[in-house]
Amino acid sequence: PQAAAPLLEVVGLRKVFGGLVAVNDVSFAVDRGEIVGLIGPNGAGKSTTFDLITGISPPTAGEIRFGGEAIAGERSRAVARRGIARTFQHVRLVPSMSVIENVALGAHLRGRAGALAGITRLDQAEERRIFAEAARQLGRVGLGEMADRPATSLALGQQRIVEIARALCLDPVLLLLDEPAAGLRHREKAELAELLRRLKGEGLSILLVEHDMDFVMGLTDRLVVMEFGTKLAEGDPATVRANPAVIDAYLGG
Ligand code: ADP
Ligand code: MG
Repeated sequence: PQAAAPLLEVVGLRKVFGGLVAVNDVSFAVDRGEIVGLIGPNGAGKSTTFDLITGISPPTAGEIRFGGEAIAGERSRAVARRGIARTFQHVRLVPSMSVIENVALGAHLRGRAGALAGITRLDQAEERRIFAEAARQLGRVGLGEMADRPATSLALGQQRIVEIARALCLDPVLLLLDEPAAGLRHREKAELAELLRRLKGEGLSILLVEHDMDFVMGLTDRLVVMEFGTKLAEGDPATVRANPAVIDAYLGG
C-alpha cells in the first residue's frame, strides 16, 4: 500500500443496469481520518456506489483503489478483508438471534471458515474468541448491557448501532454506512453522531450516505453530492449546502 495515496479513491466509476445508468463517471476520494458524507436525492446512485466499492456488484467501468491498490471487481469478502466494512440501508439483523449473536456474525465473516461457520459447528476455542470479540465491539459502541436481548427488541437507533458493532468486528480501516440515521429520533441521531466522532478519533475513516442535511453538517469533513448518477458537487459542508445546484436538487427533486 502507498502511504501517500488517498485511503479510498474512486475514478470514473460507472454502473449500468439494462438501459439505466445508475452511476455515471463518478470520482471522489476519502482520506485517512476523514468522515465524508455522500448525499443526494433518492435514486441518485449512492447505495449502488457502496455496492460497487464493497464488491456486492462489479462496476461497468472505472477504478476503485484502496490504499493505492486496485480493488474494483473483487468479491465482497476479499474487500472486507482489506479493511472495508459496511452497513446496509435497511437494517439486516437476524430477528431470532440475540444482539451479541448478531454482532458475532461479523466476527464469523472475518474468521477462516467464513459466514457458513455462523450456522455450523465451530471448535469451542474459535467460538469463544468470536464471542469475546463481539462483546468487545458491543462495549465499544456502548451497548454491552444489551448483549442478551433479542436483537429486534431494541429501538431502531440501537439496532443501527448493533449493525455498526457487527461491521467493527471485521476490524475495518474504512466504514461505509448507508443511511445510518434514517428513521432515528433526534436524540438517537445525536448519539449516533457522537459515536461516529469517537470512532473517527480512534483512527477510523467513515463514508456515510445521508439524506438529512442537518445531520451531516456538524459531523462530516467533506460532502460529495450525487444526482441522477452523477457527481453534482463536492467540498466542505457549508460551501456545498450554499451551492445553488445542490439547493435545486434537494428542493426540486
Ligand atoms: P440511492 O441509494 O441514491 O437512493 P440507488 O443506488 O439505490 O440510489 O439507485 C440508483 C438507481 O439505480 C435507481 O434508479 C435504482 O432503481 C437503480 N438500481 C439500483 N439497483 C438496481 C438493480 N440491482 N437493478 C436495476 N436497477 C437498480
Ligand atoms: Mg440508497
